[in-house]
Amino acid sequence: MNLPARPTTTRRLPTASPAGLFSPQRLLIAALALLAAVGFCQLWAARVDRTLLVAEAQLVDSQIALKATLSSATAQLALLRVGLEQELSDPAPRPRPPADGWLRPVPGRSAFAGPTPASSPGGPASNITLAAPLPAPDGERAAELAAAAGQTPLFAAVKNNLGNVTWVYYYSLNKILAIYPYEQGSVYWSDALLDRDIVANAAPDRNPARGCYWSDLYADSAGKGLMCSVVNPVYDRQGRFRGIVGFDFTVDTLITYLNGEELAIGTPFIVNEAGQLLAHPTLVKSSDNKIATIENALPPALRPEANRLLALPPGGFAAVGDSYVAALDLGAAPWRVLFIVDKRRLGLSVLGDMPFEIAGLGLLLLAGYYFLKTVRLSEELARLAVTDPLSGLANRRRFMDVLRGEIERSRRSGKPFALLMLDIDHFKRVNDTYGHNVGDKVIIALARTIAAAVREIDTAARLGGEEFAVILPETGLAGALVVAERLRLAVQAMDVRAEDGAPFRITVSLGAAEWSAGAAPEELLRRADSALYASKTGGRNRVTPYSGTP
Ligand code: GH3
Ligand code: MG
Ligand code: MG
Repeated sequence: MNLPARPTTTRRLPTASPAGLFSPQRLLIAALALLAAVGFCQLWAARVDRTLLVAEAQLVDSQIALKATLSSATAQLALLRVGLEQELSDPAPRPRPPADGWLRPVPGRSAFAGPTPASSPGGPASNITLAAPLPAPDGERAAELAAAAGQTPLFAAVKNNLGNVTWVYYYSLNKILAIYPYEQGSVYWSDALLDRDIVANAAPDRNPARGCYWSDLYADSAGKGLMCSVVNPVYDRQGRFRGIVGFDFTVDTLITYLNGEELAIGTPFIVNEAGQLLAHPTLVKSSDNKIATIENALPPALRPEANRLLALPPGGFAAVGDSYVAALDLGAAPWRVLFIVDKRRLGLSVLGDMPFEIAGLGLLLLAGYYFLKTVRLSEELARLAVTDPLSGLANRRRFMDVLRGEIERSRRSGKPFALLMLDIDHFKRVNDTYGHNVGDKVIIALARTIAAAVREIDTAARLGGEEFAVILPETGLAGALVVAERLRLAVQAMDVRAEDGAPFRITVSLGAAEWSAGAAPEELLRRADSALYASKTGGRNRVTPYSGTP
C-alpha cells in the first residue's frame, strides 16, 4: 500500500467548544468595556479642560483688576508729572524761598531743609531739602524749590488714593528733593539720589518716549518690606529734563488679587522682567527682605525653562513639560502673571471629584467581568458535555451528532464519507501487566496519535473503553484504508512506557466502512465494527475494510 507522508506537526486536541475566543458575547462585552473606558476618559479630559477654563477665567478677572490698579497708579503718577511740569513752566504766585525764610540750614550738613508741620499748619507737610547753597530768590532753582513745595497737597492725595504707597517724591537735577510724608530728619538731599537707577532709566537717553519706569524689586532700607518704585520723567516747557517724580510702594498685597479658589489647582505668581517674584502664595511675604526669583517658584523640571516662561506669548494654557502654564501681561507695568499647573496633580484632583463616575465605571467593568466569567463557564460546560474527559477527544454524544450531520451532508452533496473504528489489541493485558494508570496513559497517548494523524476536518472520538472512531468527510473507502494503515503504523511506533520507564509496544486493530446511501448511523457503526471484528479475528494489528458480506 502506498502511504502518503503526513506533516509531523502536533496539533491541538480538537475541542468541542463552538464559541472560541471571539464569541459574539465576548466581543460585545469587550466593545462595551472599551466604550465605557473611552467615555470615562473623555469625561475626565473634559472635566480637566473645564477646570482649566474656570481657572483661566479667574486669572483673567485677576488680570483685569490688577491692570485697573496699575493703570490707576500710572494715571495718578501722570497727574503728579503734569502738576510739576505746569508749576515749572508757569509758576503759581507763591512766596519764594528763601525770602520768607522757611528753609533752614541743617546743622552739621551743607544742606537746607523745611518746611516742618509747624510751618505748614493745617496742611500736609513734606520734607523739602536741597543741597547748599540757597538759591537767589529770583533764580530758576528758587522757582523750582517753590514748585516742589507747592506739590505737597497733590503728593498727599496720591498717597491716600493708593494704599500701598510709602513715599511720593520729586528728585530734581537741580539737587532739590521733595518727599511726602514728612518724617523728622529722615531724608535730606544727597547726590547719591541722582545715581539711582530710577533717575538713569527715566532720563531721555534711556527713555526717549518719556514713559513710566518700573524699578526692580528691592528690600526697603527703612524695613518696610519688599518694595518697587515707579517714576515719570519731568520736563519743562523748553523740553529740558528736570528730574523725576514717582512713588515707592510695597508689593505685599498684590497676592490678594490671585487668591481665587479656582486657582487652587496650581500656583499663581507675579514676576517682573528681571524674573523677580512680586507676588507668590508662599515665597513672597510682606516682612521679607530677601528677593525670590521665578526659579524658586518653578517645579525643578521647569527651572531651565524660566526664560521661556518670561517670554511665553500671553493667553490660554500652554503645555510646558509636565505642566500647564498660563501667562498674562499686566499692561501698565512690565510684569506678568504666571500660573503653573502640574498636569498629574490636576488629573488626580479632577479624578478625586468624580467618585460616582468612577464607581459607575467600576461597576460596569465588574459586571462585564462577571458576565464574561459566566460566558466562559457556560462555554466550558458546553465543551465538557461533548468531550471525553480522559482523552480530550469528542465523546460518543458528539460523535453521533457529527455522524448524523455527515450523513445528511453526503446525502445532499453525493460525496462519500467513511468511518474508521479502532480498538487496542489485548489491552486487558496492558492493564494487567503495567497497571490501570499506565493503561490510562496509553489511552491518552493513543488519542494524541490519532488526533495528529487525521485532518482538521476529521472527527476523532473515544466511543468508550479502548475503542475509538474517526469520521472522515469526503473520503471514500480507499482513502479511509490509507488513513487507517497510517494510523496503525503510527500506533505501532508509539513510545509507551511502564511506570519504571521500560518501553513496550501496543497495536490496534481497525475496521473501515464507507457510508452508502440509505444507511442509518447505527448501521454504519455496525459495519465498521464488523470490519474491526474481522481484524481482531484475522490476527489483530491490521486494517480490514467492510466488504458488505457478514
Ligand atoms: P482485544 O480487544 O484485543 O480482543 O483484547 P482486549 O484485552 O483489549 O479486550 P477487551 O475488550 O476484553 O478488554 C478491554 C479492556 O480495556 C477491559 C478494561 O480493563 C480496559 N479498559 C477499558 N476502559 C479503560 C480505561 O478507561 N482505562 C484503562 N486503563 N483500561 C480500560
Ligand atoms: Mg481491546
Ligand atoms: Mg474493546
